[in-house]
Amino acid sequence: MAGIVVKPRARVFHGHDWVYASEIRKLFGEPKPGEVISLKDYRDRPLGTAIYNPDSQIVARRISRRKQKLDEEFFERRIGQAIALRERSGIDPRLARIIWSESDGLPGVVVDRYGDHLVLQTLTLAMYLNRELIVKVLVGMLNPESVILRNDSPMLSAEGIEEEITIMHGERPGPFVVEAPTADGGVKFEIDLLDGQKTGLYLDQLDAHREIAKLAKGKRVLDCFCNQGGFALACAKAGAASVTAVDSSEPAIEATLRNAELNGVEINAVKHNAFDFLKHCEDEYDIVILDPPSFTKNKKSLNNAMRGYKEIHLRGLKLLAKEGIMATYCCSHHATRELFLENIVSASVDAKRSLRMVASHGQRLDHPVLPAIPETEYLKGFVLQLMPSR
Ligand code: SAH
Repeated sequence: MAGIVVKPRARVFHGHDWVYASEIRKLFGEPKPGEVISLKDYRDRPLGTAIYNPDSQIVARRISRRKQKLDEEFFERRIGQAIALRERSGIDPRLARIIWSESDGLPGVVVDRYGDHLVLQTLTLAMYLNRELIVKVLVGMLNPESVILRNDSPMLSAEGIEEEITIMHGERPGPFVVEAPTADGGVKFEIDLLDGQKTGLYLDQLDAHREIAKLAKGKRVLDCFCNQGGFALACAKAGAASVTAVDSSEPAIEATLRNAELNGVEINAVKHNAFDFLKHCEDEYDIVILDPPSFTKNKKSLNNAMRGYKEIHLRGLKLLAKEGIMATYCCSHHATRELFLENIVSASVDAKRSLRMVASHGQRLDHPVLPAIPETEYLKGFVLQLMPSR
């Protein structure tokens, strides 16, 4: 088998599974893009099996510490383990990310389950080339009505894979309804997996919706960056006094309004840039939720991103009523937990307010964190309450 000899200080010696171009000492054999290769140290000792793509920044991703083929048995084992993990973890395994890439030993494979429908992404060349086999195994195990390949991530071009959305199994599904369990009898969402403007839900935030809803009874809630209304709907169902939801995307606002109707609740959904909305808002709220998209995809733009967070934190705090609560989330891996907390503190200093931490949230268990692969941890959230002035 062809392969790579890695340099002595490469990440793989510290439990990581990636090999960057700068970590390669030499190639042996003639590895081809998308192939399975061996990894070795400079004394020719085996470090495991990886998938290879010289066009990607991450040239090799280890799939096993032993010899391993990308065959049906491999996919059955890894997919079976991933599904079993969701079934054991206390979340609804029918509304979950059932495979998440490196965290499930399947680099580049992401599968979201919405009841009887599966959405697959193949974000590495080797997994893309094996997509038929992956679908075969998924169908064998879960017998879904449909499997949609939704390869429309910006990560694809880095791997030299064409963007593509196609049905790989079953019939084209129309819009359908799923229900996320909550303390208040569940929140229904309309899902339309093939509408170009939406994908499914932000499954990683379903637990957070439920946690915030527990604080919302009788409260005035503002959900900024609401997408399809996850936080807003859960709070409205929990008996919030009023719920305002803001998003800059028209389809997101339309979806929020449709979902509100579906759940029999009232939400004041506003299409607006959240920065401007927060700046000009003159109302007072008991709970302000801030869940923006990642403001930074790399280290270079981190400072700008932190300025963005600071601005929404400061403006969010100013809208809070006495003993009000701000729930703020950051889904950028590069903005660490410490940096994000520092940012919140700095905003509270400028606002001349003191905050008490009520809860700290992370990504749901269907997005497992591997501490040896820090890139697997990205979502952090803090729920903070204004302290009485003193
Ligand atoms: N809170 C949602 C997920 C939010 S995803 C949930 O829990 O399900 C981020 C959302 O921010 C997207 O819907 C996107 O349309 C929106 N968005 C991006 N930039 C924005 C801006 N400047 N103002 C308002 N919304 C914005």
